[in-house]
Amino acid sequence: MNEGIGTLKLECPQGHPVGRILKEAAYQAVQYDPGAQVGSRRFWPDERDQPQFTVHCRFCDKPVGEAAATLQTKFRTVVEDASETLAIAALPYT
Ligand SMILES: [Zn+2]
Repeated sequence: MNEGIGTLKLECPQGHPVGRILKEAAYQAVQYDPGAQVGSRRFWPDERDQPQFTVHCRFCDKPVGEAAATLQTKFRTVVEDASETLAIAALPYT
């Protein structure tokens, strides 16, 4: 049973990883995981993520971003699909 959990991998236009939006258990809140080398997980989205979620690609040294509402819709699709637990979202440069 994969219902209620999911991971949305975030990438820059070059395919570099810029973190993950995830829910590992149905009862857990949605979290943003920037990557172990970058920082710790936090609740997502919080005030600074609205309306535009922006992160820095440390490989390109450029900011990338997407509307938080768009990412929430994509993430919800993964969470509601019991057969898929992973999807990838490419964030354009801002
Ligand atoms: Zn990049």
